[in-house]
Amino acid sequence: MTMEAWGRVKDSLVKRIGKNNYTTWIEPLRLADLSEGVVRFEVPTTFFGDWVSRNFADHILSFLNAEGQSVGRIEFLVPTRPAVSEPAKPATRAKPAARARAVQDDELPGASLDARFTFDSFVVGKPNELAHAAARRVAEGGPVTFNPLFLYGGVGLGKTHLMHAIAHELQARQPHLRVLYLSAEQFMYRFVQALRDKQIMDFKEIFRSVDVLMVDDVQFIAGKDSTQEEFFHTFNALVDQNKQIVISADRAPGEIKDLEDRIKSRLQCGLVVDLHPTDYELRLGILQQKVEFYRQQYKGLEISSGVLEFLAHRITTNVRVLEGALTRLFAFASLVGREITLELAQDCLADILRASDRKLTIEEIQRKVAEHYNIRLSDMIGPKRLRNIARPRQVAMYLAKQLTPRSLPEIGRRFGGRDHTTIMHGVRKIEELMTSDSQLSDDLQLLRRLLQG
Ligand code: ADP
Ligand code: MG
Repeated sequence: MTMEAWGRVKDSLVKRIGKNNYTTWIEPLRLADLSEGVVRFEVPTTFFGDWVSRNFADHILSFLNAEGQSVGRIEFLVPTRPAVSEPAKPATRAKPAARARAVQDDELPGASLDARFTFDSFVVGKPNELAHAAARRVAEGGPVTFNPLFLYGGVGLGKTHLMHAIAHELQARQPHLRVLYLSAEQFMYRFVQALRDKQIMDFKEIFRSVDVLMVDDVQFIAGKDSTQEEFFHTFNALVDQNKQIVISADRAPGEIKDLEDRIKSRLQCGLVVDLHPTDYELRLGILQQKVEFYRQQYKGLEISSGVLEFLAHRITTNVRVLEGALTRLFAFASLVGREITLELAQDCLADILRASDRKLTIEEIQRKVAEHYNIRLSDMIGPKRLRNIARPRQVAMYLAKQLTPRSLPEIGRRFGGRDHTTIMHGVRKIEELMTSDSQLSDDLQLLRRLLQG
């Protein structure tokens, strides 16, 4: 079976079993092989396999067969060596219903909103307080004070949650407003569809008639020229009419590669706020809030504050993973009829805890180092040789070698395709300077601490 076919099966599974179940139980499955009517998956633990088999085997089988694979049985293998799990990826959201529930007028081609993503359920802490305050302001629906509101930050830090919260709040306060929320991918999809069906005028009219436009994950349209062009015109038309626009992306406007400069500068015109990586307090706060839900769902199951603190301390990747861990922990404990203890958590979350240990990416290192030395992220990978840029770049190379398991050629690729000898030279240079340059060694110490949390 091809990976594409398995990908399609997974898409169907998301729709059938919901995003949470999917993230917790299906995403970690590694397709090992399919032959003679048996499909084999690698799973992190025996329990995990049992659970999937008990709850989702029928769905998996029926979707595989619908893909033309004749499969009668599923087997689960627990690798003796830890399965290499990829860093957590954003869960694929189930493809939304065709019509926006956000709008009264159901002609708008938006995405449906997640009822749980409200301001009430959003936990505010230092890393997200600015983004939250800005979102609140927009959600009041008063006169437009900044346009667009541009929210950016890494995966799973709450961008989508905040955007849905804005839509919910606007809907409640100002039901007459036409609020359109959709992902940049859906924007492109609608646009291409309109081109194909020769309905581009309708498309333009719809998008120009909304009061609030929210486009999620706008980095998606980078490099897609005609979609960008159309987005740019839509954007300008709305700004001219003084309509509010909210945009999210995984990085700052200036850092999105293959995005036209005129769009970048347009995006920077309003208020640009970032969601910082979570800190320990925020993670603990989120866990405490979410746990209420599980206490009710699994009556009688308790989780001590010690275990919550352990999770907040150890799972630093993102909030989505944190939630997944909680889901699995409660499901596991209730299934085996045991109390939630630290040992149980360590046992049943072994793969997540391992993945969390390996969380650091070269990108994050580059970002932090660029921030620290006040240079642009793009200069990290660019060709400039000026000392005040080359040195921080070497610092980032050194930290990438030290703090990630990546090889020199891999690091080279992420520094704009540099040769591995260049990376080696950079690493050596820093090692050499470190001993004599106390400022540099202080910088390194600080950066290391920041990066390892
Ligand atoms: P992003 O769009 O930035 O990738 P999401 O908004 O999809 O992230 O958030 C991922 C998950 O984490 C969602 O289930 C969301 O509800 C939850 N989440 C993120 N930040 C918070 C927060 N501050 N308080 C409560 N839940 C949060
Ligand atoms: Mg999102």
